Amino acid sequence: RSVQEGVGSARWVVTPPSAVPEKMKAWVYDEYGDAGVLKLDEAVSVPPVGEDQVLVRVEAAALNPVDSKRRMGKFKATDSSLPTVPGYDMAGVVVKVGSQVKNLKEGDEVYGHISEKVLEGPKQYGSLAEYTAVEEKLVALKPKNIDFAQAAGLPLAIETAHEGLERAGFSAGKSILVLGGAGGVGSLVIQLAKQVYEASTVAATASTPKLELLKSLGADVAIDYTKENFQDMPEKYDVVFDTVGQGDKAVKVVKEGGSVVVLTGAVAPPGFRFVVTSDGSVLEKLKPYLESGKVKPIVDPKGPFPFSQVVEAFSYLETGRATGKVVISPI
Ligand code: NDP
Repeated sequence: RSVQEGVGSARWVVTPPSAVPEKMKAWVYDEYGDAGVLKLDEAVSVPPVGEDQVLVRVEAAALNPVDSKRRMGKFKATDSSLPTVPGYDMAGVVVKVGSQVKNLKEGDEVYGHISEKVLEGPKQYGSLAEYTAVEEKLVALKPKNIDFAQAAGLPLAIETAHEGLERAGFSAGKSILVLGGAGGVGSLVIQLAKQVYEASTVAATASTPKLELLKSLGADVAIDYTKENFQDMPEKYDVVFDTVGQGDKAVKVVKEGGSVVVLTGAVAPPGFRFVVTSDGSVLEKLKPYLESGKVKPIVDPKGPFPFSQVVEAFSYLETGRATGKVVISPI
């Protein structure tokens, strides 16, 4: 990536990908708190590469609400130790491979969610950095038709959408209500339900300015939550996928024998909550849908935010009003 001008000549020397520096720029925090604890450190050690890992030159990263919750110390008990380089989602170029890596090589363009378990021992050296080390099995080759910024926004959200639909037993011909259809996860649940699982009906909630987006993603019914309460409407669904934290209302609109999957907040049976597990094979499975454009990454139009504006990007994410993904690029 680094290109240096030859001294005293017009020659350009392209540094080979194997020339990995020892230090890198990364966002770091050494105490829990609001976005103000984040600092840009210019001399963080490039993480070591395990035998089953690749080192990635990160080109783009994306933020998730869990990055904020983790930084606030909400799951301190199972977190990795401080200081932390935050970030789960990334897209970039492989610059080094561990001895046991089977399918990836230097120069491959990859993307993924780098911590297998989000809450239990997430990586101390995350994706908001110039380099990050990640297990080969957690990443996949980036579809050629999407750029790094678009790719970086996908992994955690699309793996959550996919795992939730699988756990709910979603399948062709079933109906679904997506609560929070314009967010990072919801925008992908709508698309997967419609394009991959062949839902009979997809309904989704959002505020007034986002209803057109819901339709463009494949929702048959767009419910404006500022005007209507979905739980007071007559329709019932085979599956309700709650990304907002409305489990109590969600269970009221599920059909007998149906499933209610929630990502946050409490829920009573038949509702259930789960925490996503990172898995590169899900990205592989969904690749044809991404390559054909049937499933599209949605990057919030306020971004991508440059690497210097990670604090601003977090503040924006934390308004809870993001459309699709808050992406950091270039890095
Ligand atoms: P986002 O920040 O992308 O969600 C923002 C979206 O939420 C906005 O578009 C907003 O739309 C919408 N929204 C907010 N309130 C409502 C409402 N009352 N009704 C409908 N839509 C609403 O979040 P993510 O999609 O990334 O994550 C959603 C939640 O799921 C977070 O709490 C996150 O931590 C959790 N999560 C849990 C995972 C797990 O494994 N358990 C994995 C991934 C996420 P508008 O502006 O129109 O209100």
